[in-house]
Amino acid sequence: MTFDDLFLAPHLLRALAEEGYSSPTPIQARSIPMLLEGRDLLGMAQTGTGKTAAFALPLLHRLAATPRPAPRNGARVLVLAPTRELVSQIADGFESFGRHAKPSVTTIFGGVSPFHQIKALENGVDIIVAAPGRLLDLIDQGLCDLSQLEALVLDEADQMLDMGFAKPIERIVATLPKDRHTLLFSATMPKSITALAESLLRDPAKVEI
Ligand code: AMP
Repeated sequence: MTFDDLFLAPHLLRALAEEGYSSPTPIQARSIPMLLEGRDLLGMAQTGTGKTAAFALPLLHRLAATPRPAPRNGARVLVLAPTRELVSQIADGFESFGRHAKPSVTTIFGGVSPFHQIKALENGVDIIVAAPGRLLDLIDQGLCDLSQLEALVLDEADQMLDMGFAKPIERIVATLPKDRHTLLFSATMPKSITALAESLLRDPAKVEI
């Protein structure tokens, strides 16, 4: 199988060819078709399986297929991840795969001044990749409004719960539209994750790698 078999937009196929990706990894081959249709997804996968592209490619495809201005102080897509390193890696992935469509991507995490993050949000962005704590601070201060969000991804959800982000995640999700596309990835599936998945996902496809 090649990426050409997955019905991704030509601008994404070009970016993949430039990156030297020729064939999809198993999680990409199984997730991308369902995600292109807008299906919710529960993915059990470790880092290194290609899961970043598995969610970034179909979300970029859907953003470009339905162009609209990014909502003020908000975004069309939100990815939550546990650490600053992972947030940066995921944002790099969106920028790399999205290079021909040029979506705006902003990272939000603690430990640095929020000034640039707030400035970047002002006019709205297509994609926010964030650690939950700082994002919730900005929401609480009225500096981030996610009421127009179209898609939510929770990456490394088990690690986020282990780090004590259950409550912040719950409070962030409470500000999102109920009618949205939701994806949850976790390396392990303890009861806390299946409960979270049940509360967030609607009739999800399940992919285990
Ligand atoms: P991830 O699991 O998303 O952290 O990806 C692990 C590594 O695999 C990253 O360095 C990606 O650039 C690379 N990668 C992901 N998908 C593919 C693919 N289909 N072909 C070649 N490399 C890939």
